[in-house]
This record gives sequence, structure tokens and C-alpha cells, in this order.
Amino acid sequence: MDTGLLIVLLNSTIALALGAAFLVLWSYQRHRPYLGVLAASYVFAAAGFLFQHFSFPVGLAPSKFLSNLCFCLAACCLVGAVVARHGRPVPYAGIGALAGGGMAAFCWFLFVQPDLTWRILVVNFALGGISLLAAAELRVVRGNGPTEKILFALALLSGLNFFARTLAVIIAQGPFKSYDQLYASSYWTTALLSHALFSLLIALSLFTAAALDVVKALKAETRTDPLSGILNRRGFDERSAQLLDQCGKAGFPVALVLADLDHFKALNDQHGHEAGDRVIADFAAKLRSATGARGAAGRIGGEEFAVLLPLCDLASARLFAEAIRAFYSAGAIDGLPPGARVTASFGVAARSGTEGLMPLMRRADEALYKAKKNGRDSVRLSYERPETIFVAESLAIG
Ligand code: GH3
Ligand code: MG
Ligand code: MG
Repeated sequence: MDTGLLIVLLNSTIALALGAAFLVLWSYQRHRPYLGVLAASYVFAAAGFLFQHFSFPVGLAPSKFLSNLCFCLAACCLVGAVVARHGRPVPYAGIGALAGGGMAAFCWFLFVQPDLTWRILVVNFALGGISLLAAAELRVVRGNGPTEKILFALALLSGLNFFARTLAVIIAQGPFKSYDQLYASSYWTTALLSHALFSLLIALSLFTAAALDVVKALKAETRTDPLSGILNRRGFDERSAQLLDQCGKAGFPVALVLADLDHFKALNDQHGHEAGDRVIADFAAKLRSATGARGAAGRIGGEEFAVLLPLCDLASARLFAEAIRAFYSAGAIDGLPPGARVTASFGVAARSGTEGLMPLMRRADEALYKAKKNGRDSVRLSYERPETIFVAESLAIG
């Protein structure tokens, strides 16, 4: 078997195997369409190599056209998938112009004014342009992690490979007069080998990236409460520890608000557990939108919630709690009969010194207990300071 055919078969097999692997991954992750597009990209690449080497009954020129069309489609799918994975808009116009322009020029040099060297040049320049377009898109996100950096470097190198290698080989060995001369040249060998290398490296990086996406999503799931969509106890504790640490270093104030829905057991008994679930989700959504991205809102128990507010002292945290209390007790709740009222009680504590989350929680909880004792639907504050600071201060005075 000749070496060219061997490398063509190797490339097609690698591309098909990678396409199948992305297809399997996509079947498990149907909400990530970029995996399906990657599978299509590798299948197109495999078809491109097969059409290149074997002349189908359609004839030599149409086979070459189909082969190069498949290569262009493979590049378009690959770039589209990589860009879409980051949630960035796919530059369809740029990709379309490069692929369409490249294929139009290719057809000109195939059917109108046949010239093999120019065909090689225009297709490689179009593929190089598409790779550099991907590199330009990935440049913006390359700070997001090591896989993004590697993908950016691979897009850049692959772009340069299409331009520099093609030009170098054509200057050294060209112009090419026939396909036999082309397939015997180092252009073809380096093209096949570099394709095999790049497609393997890109696929490995993308597999790693896809695996990291799944791990990230699972991690977020373990920190999210499924009923309300806000942080669960574990997520709230972790996020709060981060915020307390950041605010401590910057010397910013932090306050904690605890909220507990009033007479919730009676609400469940009267309207049913499902209605109770909707009330929990509704209250959580209001807390989340009031907290925004700067703070942390979590469901830390059945009908108990906590909000950590950076840059808030006791007075502003009290205003926050009062605003939610008044807004909530006055509004209608989705899923409850009109006129049904649900209220909540709140306990507020402001961080004192380097006080940790647990003592802050304990103080806010005591304030919440006072609000409950006081008739509910109210906000109470903790004016107490943590014991450790009392001890430190009394030692200093003593
Ligand atoms: P208080 O005003 O003193 O807070 O009274 P309460 O009835 O709200 O408090 P209690 O602690 O006695 O009862 C809390 C109720 O919350 C009991 C439980 O059935 C209900 N609950 C806890 N988690 C859920 C949930 O996920 N969904 C629903 N529907 N109810 C829940
Ligand atoms: Mg309650
Ligand atoms: Mg409770």
C-alpha cells in the first residue's frame, strides 16, 4: 500500500473516531449543541480526505470540489462550535465570507481556468483565514483557563500553518502541474501529517474543555437548591466565606439578613404542600433579585433564607430587610387564592471586626427569634457584639 493512501486512511479514521466520540458525548449532553457541531466537523473532515484520494463515479473535478467543500465545512463547524461554547455570537458573516470566497475561487481555478497551484493556495488561505478568525474570537476568552489558552494557541498555529507551510512548499517545489506530482510532494505529506496532529490536539483540548464544562455544571448543581434556584446551605456558606474574606481584606462592612416565612406549617395545611413550594420559590426569586450579583442569597433550611450583603452596615441591611418585608407582605402570591397573605420575619446582624459567618449567623438568628416573638412580620436587629471582641477589649482595658 502506498504511503499517501495509508496517511489518508489514517486521517479519515482518526477524524471519524473523534467525530463518533463527540457524537457519544453529545448524546449524553443534548443541551450542549456545540458537541454535535464538533461531531459534524470531524465527519466532514473524514469525508474530505476520502473524496480527495478516491475519485468517485461523479468524476475527478467534482470529487475534488466535494473534498474541498467538506474541508471548508469542517473548518466552519469547528470554529462555530468553539466560539459557541463560550456563549459568544458566532461570526457567521466572517466565516461565510472566507469559506464562500475560498470555494468560489477554488471553483474558478477548477472549472473555468484550471490551475492546481492556485487551487491549493486559495483553499489553504481560506482555511487559514477561518483559523485566524477563531484565534481572534478566542483571544478575548483566553484568560478563562488553561484550555482556552491552549485552544487560542492551536487556532493561531493552525492559521499560520495554513499560510506559511503552503507558501513555503509551493515556492520550494511548485508550481504543481498534476495531482500525481502533488501527492508525491512534501506539501501533501506535511498537509496530511499536520492535519492529523492538529485535529488530535484540538480534539484533546476540546474533550478536556467539555469535561471541565460538565464538572463545573455538576459543581454548581451541588451548590444550588433545586426548588428555589438560589444557593443551598453549602453554596451559601462557601460564597459567604469568600465574600467575608474579600470584605475583610478591603475593610468593607458586611451584614447578614436571616428570613423565615411565618406560619408556614399552617399555610401548607391550608393550601397544600405544592402551594407551599411555590411560595418558597417565589420568595427566593424576590430575595435573589433584591440581592443582585454583589451579595449571596441562599435557602438555608425548609422556609429559612439568608442574605449576605457586602458594603452594608446595620442600618442599610435593616432598610433592605424592611423593604423586602413590606413588599412581600403586601403582594399577591402566584398559586395562592387572591387575598391570601404570606409574611416573613427577619433578623439582621452587621459584622463586627473579623467576626466569622457562624457567630454572625447566631446573632442574626437571635434577632430573628425576637421578631418571631414580637408577633412576626417584622425586622429585628442584633446590637450585640461577638464575645471574642468583648474578651479582647476587656483584656486590653484591664
Ligand atoms: P413560624 O412562623 O414560627 O416560623 O412557624 P412555621 O410554621 O413557619 O415554622 P415551623 O418550623 O413550625 O414549620 C416550618 C414548616 O415548613 C414545616 C414544614 O412542613 C414546612 N416546610 C419545610 N420545607 C418545606 C418545603 O420544601 N416545601 C413546603 N411546602 N413546606 C416546607
Ligand atoms: Mg417559619
Ligand atoms: Mg423555620
